[in-house]
Amino acid sequence: MFLNLWQHSTMHAFFAMAGVVGVLTRCKFQIPVGLDHLLFSLALFNEGLLFYTHSSRMSALDKYIHYILLIPILSGAVCSLFEVWFRNNPILELFRTSMFITQGTWLWQIAFLLWGTSSWDHNDPETYVFMAICYSWHYGSVILFLTWLWLTNGTLKETEGLILAAQEQAIRTNAIKAKIEKSADDPKCRLCKETDETIDHILSCCKKTAQTDYKQRHNCVAQMIHWNLCLK
Ligand SMILES: [Zn+2]
Repeated sequence: MFLNLWQHSTMHAFFAMAGVVGVLTRCKFQIPVGLDHLLFSLALFNEGLLFYTHSSRMSALDKYIHYILLIPILSGAVCSLFEVWFRNNPILELFRTSMFITQGTWLWQIAFLLWGTSSWDHNDPETYVFMAICYSWHYGSVILFLTWLWLTNGTLKETEGLILAAQEQAIRTNAIKAKIEKSADDPKCRLCKETDETIDHILSCCKKTAQTDYKQRHNCVAQMIHWNLCLK
């Protein structure tokens, strides 16, 4: 009983440690790049080891469905380890995400198998074949789910259109309305009310957004440059 508690708290402690380092990495502390992924990977390897021994007193079928869980756990651990060096790689990120979701859905499946109403024949080899097929369908469904997410949210769509319109000076700012369309609108910037509201003014010359939006944009770009320099 106590061993079971220790197993779970050890696993959670490692994930908590990885989480704390993940948060610190995104704060202003001088933490080596990739340490967050390294600790995450170690937490997963640790989880794999704990899960492997977790099922030592179980029946053969229970062991089998627990061992299947080692596939997403260890694959996620290896993937996180690669991400120490290959940061922001979309393929690795998608693979890691798919392994995490599969780990979660298979845990639900284990709960239904162990405490559900249907009884399984633990000695029938076909039960094991069925479980393996079941796991494959879990992973297949996760891939379909991620594909749907990617197709519906993975592109810029409206934002991309807005960026292109801004580049072409084709956004109806106050200056365009007053000077091109000859409307009765005031051409001045609606925030600072000092100069004409042109695209250039909105993007880089307005006093009102200098300390907020411009600063945030500056910091985001500086952060990207910093990460890329650290990786060299
Ligand atoms: Zn302005």
